[in-house]
Amino acid sequence: MEGELPNTLTAQGCILACATVRGVFYAAVQERRSSKVWALVVLIKRGRGYYNCTYKEMEERDGPVEDHCPVRILELLSPLPACSHDEEYCRLCNAEIALEGGQWNSRALPGQRPDVAGPRCIRGYPIGAAAPDGSAPLHEPGGTASCSTCWARNWRERCRANDERERQARRRAKAVRPGTRVRFGRPLQFSNGEQRDTFIFVTRSTFRAPDSNDRYSIPRWRIDHEFKIISPPLA
Ligand SMILES: [Zn+2]
Ligand SMILES: [Zn+2]
Repeated sequence: MEGELPNTLTAQGCILACATVRGVFYAAVQERRSSKVWALVVLIKRGRGYYNCTYKEMEERDGPVEDHCPVRILELLSPLPACSHDEEYCRLCNAEIALEGGQWNSRALPGQRPDVAGPRCIRGYPIGAAAPDGSAPLHEPGGTASCSTCWARNWRERCRANDERERQARRRAKAVRPGTRVRFGRPLQFSNGEQRDTFIFVTRSTFRAPDSNDRYSIPRWRIDHEFKIISPPLA
């Protein structure tokens, strides 16, 4: 993988450690000149044919959406410089906001139309975040400054939080033994069109139906799905 990389971002450095997780390549890259270590994230899309592979290279400072970088790689990264942003940013639309008269308001930046200012998000807010009256949501504090150091810090935190969540899920899954009856938080859809939420664990990612010997493969069930143990196997 390392040898295949288009080498635009890594030209100035070398890869100390790397991993491919869910089709995303993560690497700790050490810069030759400064010896600083930062994270490279490469999306790999495999198309048809042997040579048909496309890459999208990003670095942590781009704040990639893909946030399953293994902790052993995160541990190698240079600490990020502290930055202070006195401004508050909207959690929903990321506009710069200020508390005025008990209300969070955005101001028009130079060159923006004055009507972007006010208590409501103009654009960029998540679908479904609308205010109860159906129009744009009110600004809420808690957003991140559009600062690449902050994007990187936020990305590192997300990766660590995901790792912690997955470790807890794996620990919980240890109680699932062959014969354990498990119910998933919501019904799973199978390629034969069947939907089912309750199974008996067989081994690895194989389950069977409680009322028949039909087998089901549920890859990554430990971390991708909420589940409840309905009854432990008979000793
Ligand atoms: Zn907003
Ligand atoms: Zn910052």
